[in-house]
Amino acid sequence: MQITVLKEKDANEARVALVPESVKKLVAMNVSVAIESGAGLPASINDADFEAVGATISADRQHLLASTDILLAVNRPGDDALAGLKRGAILVAFLRPLDEPKRMEELISRGLTAFAIELIPRTTRAQSMDGLSSMATIVGYKAVLMAAERMPRMFPMLTTAAGTVPPARVLILGAGVAGLQAIATARRLGAIVEGFDVRAAAGEAVRSLGARFLELDMGGAQTEDAGGYAREVTEEIMERSRDLIANQAALTDCIVTSAQVPGRRAPILVTEKAVSGMKRGAVIVDLAGSTGGNCALTRPGEEVDVNGVKIFAPLNLASTVPLHASQLYSRNLTSFLSILIKEGQLNLDFNDDIIGPACAVHQGQAVEPRLKAALSIS
Ligand code: NAD
Repeated sequence: MQITVLKEKDANEARVALVPESVKKLVAMNVSVAIESGAGLPASINDADFEAVGATISADRQHLLASTDILLAVNRPGDDALAGLKRGAILVAFLRPLDEPKRMEELISRGLTAFAIELIPRTTRAQSMDGLSSMATIVGYKAVLMAAERMPRMFPMLTTAAGTVPPARVLILGAGVAGLQAIATARRLGAIVEGFDVRAAAGEAVRSLGARFLELDMGGAQTEDAGGYAREVTEEIMERSRDLIANQAALTDCIVTSAQVPGRRAPILVTEKAVSGMKRGAVIVDLAGSTGGNCALTRPGEEVDVNGVKIFAPLNLASTVPLHASQLYSRNLTSFLSILIKEGQLNLDFNDDIIGPACAVHQGQAVEPRLKAALSIS
């Protein structure tokens, strides 16, 4: 059985789906691993590093694809690559099946089987396969570094011969995986940090990192679903959240936003009025850009300056830390493959509580219920 990794199709994508330490593990599982020449270079991994642990390197993309049983990728491969796969081949990647269901039609028409990393359940058993958490960890870290670099002030309090410099005040909105990592990073840099989330459980996590949790009376509303995700809250709660945030924003040097509700547009938490009340030189890094953004003035993928307040909404921060992002993702994939492969052979048990839910398309048939609904398939 052959597992293949190609160069990512997007020139701005620096991550690679497998790193050498994982190739070594897969080869020990009795499968062959083929890597397109140069696939690891943007993540600082040479072909020779892959070869040393038993991978085959080839520059012949069509030949690689034709002999592939499982194609591993970071993002959904281009149609030209999908066209080179044999029917029934397996693809595992971040496929955005619920955000971009129409783009799954190419996989369906080619008779492929596709597992989406986003569909892997956030359960204890699947923790080691949780690519969303791996990338969110990196994104939360990098968002704070990005803000620190663009602010006209430093993060830590410093006492110098020229006097004292006060610490930066940082506000983190949304205390999921990315938000908590942003809090931890801002604290390590010496900032005074405040956090906000609609889930009460997030308060404990925020405080455990040495930050203050902004409390809001939710009036007994159920703000968390059974899976631990936020539910959409009432407009009345949203209004009060925005007021609380606007008051805090006026005192803040940097806001990092990461609030998301699965399957919905990101909630607007920072209004235009809140931005107009912020200090000149303050920075907002909006991590919810791909679902519309948490700030009313965000332009996904762009940088906006509103009277000296800079708003950034980077869309692929994980790719700016490509070696570690690839390493974590590669470990997630290898852990997932360890339940798909038994003794060097494919073992697709759709009753398995990870394999079943993670499958978006099986042999050209959409099988994930929300994907089927989005594509109007009964
Ligand atoms: P996410 O990216 O879906 O959302 C980020 C955060 O935004 C969440 O904390 C959410 O509560 C918050 N949010 C949503 N609407 C908001 C609003 N209006 N105002 C303020 N905050 C708002 O979340 P995520 O990082 O993917 O994590 C989701 C949940 O899954 C968390 O409870 C996390 O602890 C849990 N989780 C569990 C596991 C596991 O057990 N294996 C792994 C990862 C995450």
